[in-house]
Amino acid sequence: MMIIKNFIKNRKRKAIVMMLSFLFLICFSGLFSFHCYCKNEPLTVNIDAQTDFAAKVEQCAQLLPKTTKKAIRNRNITIYACSSQKVMQMGGKGVACTVTNHKDGHAEIYISNAYEDTYEVVRHEVGHGMDQALSPSWPQVCSDRPGWRSVLDTAKDMEMERFGSFSYIEAFADCYNLYLSEPEYLMQKAPLMYTMLDIVLN
Ligand SMILES: [Zn+2]
Repeated sequence: MMIIKNFIKNRKRKAIVMMLSFLFLICFSGLFSFHCYCKNEPLTVNIDAQTDFAAKVEQCAQLLPKTTKKAIRNRNITIYACSSQKVMQMGGKGVACTVTNHKDGHAEIYISNAYEDTYEVVRHEVGHGMDQALSPSWPQVCSDRPGWRSVLDTAKDMEMERFGSFSYIEAFADCYNLYLSEPEYLMQKAPLMYTMLDIVLN
């Protein structure tokens, strides 16, 4: 009886050791790479902005949904906190701009402090980034694809009301902004666009 008990104990021990070795192998063999996107790894880079503004941009970027943060990292989208001169140098009109390298799909987002609501600027510009990041057929962006365009058409009236003009690219970025800031408003004014964003962002 004693021998059998010892045997079971040994078998249990062996099983535990084997299980631990297996877990160790999985974790360190590279079979699975455990990378956590939720930790507060910096998402932004300070080029020539004041330190407190750069910290504000970083805080805003960290408020973005997890799926967006993951896309920003996966698609190599860089967000810069910078001066409005830098934005102008990069072709923007003073507040912010998104520059895309059509060869490799790398996008650079320049955010300046020329507008009071920094988070709104970040949401809008990242919306341009997501227009690229969510597209399965780079260099064609979502807002260039017929499917998305027919959905964006349903947001035309709302965009005309808000800005007095309509462009697919701007509408995509604005709807992304509204999805995060005023979801109920977007749901009411452009329900199809709200639903599409809700599907792809979750
Ligand atoms: Zn824009």
